Amino acid sequence: MAELIVVHGISLPPGEFGGPWIDRLFTGNLPADAHPYFKEIAGRRVSAHALIRRDGQIVQYVPFGARAWHAGESEYQGRAGCNDFSIGIELEGEDEQPYEDAQYATLAALINALLAAYPSLSRDRVVGHSDIAPGRKTDPGGMFDWERLRRLG
Ligand SMILES: [Zn+2]
Repeated sequence: MAELIVVHGISLPPGEFGGPWIDRLFTGNLPADAHPYFKEIAGRRVSAHALIRRDGQIVQYVPFGARAWHAGESEYQGRAGCNDFSIGIELEGEDEQPYEDAQYATLAALINALLAAYPSLSRDRVVGHSDIAPGRKTDPGGMFDWERLRRLG
């Protein structure tokens, strides 16, 4: 049951936006030989419920009621294995660059829709990947404006 929303940032290759590679990764179809970085990550079983592209468009990969593989080793308020009880939303982005206005607007609308659909979720339980996997993950990064997201909510 979804009790937590986890916000992520991803770009493939790191720092490049707009290519087909995030789709390819989340559909288990990333070609290891297309970029040196892909060798490290191709073949990993990873997915997210949804991706919000730089222009604010949403792509959904996994039904919100099903488990996706976005959190990895993680812990929230003493509970390990956040994939079991969270919805993962990826923003196409990179830790050191601001996210786009359209991404905040879409993220806020998506969170509102999820809160309406899943009473087990709560506005206070929206966290970053770095919050549940500190030391291992840094996304969505210091440029992500949590206050702005709250104001839009
Ligand atoms: Zn992440």
